Amino acid sequence: MLRLNFELVPDSCWYSNLRTILKPTEWQIVRRDALSRANGHCMICGKKTTRLEAHERWAYDEKTCTQILTDVVAICHDCHQVIHIGRTQLMGDINRAIDHFQKVNNCSYSDYIKALGEANKLHQRLSKVDEWKLDLSYLLKFTK
Ligand SMILES: [Zn+2]
Repeated sequence: MLRLNFELVPDSCWYSNLRTILKPTEWQIVRRDALSRANGHCMICGKKTTRLEAHERWAYDEKTCTQILTDVVAICHDCHQVIHIGRTQLMGDINRAIDHFQKVNNCSYSDYIKALGEANKLHQRLSKVDEWKLDLSYLLKFTK
């Protein structure tokens, strides 16, 4: 298991960004909860930073075609760049992302290539699903 891995959202998902689904006030509650749990440290690599970014984690149930929100975490910019590697390849600093991946996972460049291949394979398979249902029951804990 890699500490820091790619999380590629399937092309067939309508909702890849919680921010666009929630009201701004609701998103702030979810974001603040993640930031308070992080307590000034990236929740993946542990780096101390004042600039944490909220990141939604999704699971995909292929049997029921359901996209499930499992967590919202606060992470550093470098980890975020690795997670969204597709976007970083297009408009980010890919070499920096590759270095960060290797450093956090304590692995080689060939491990990076292997993990990227697996992530792309999974992404292709999940993108074949026509339409994903959305499970946001994670958010219920904020209504109590
Ligand atoms: Zn980090």
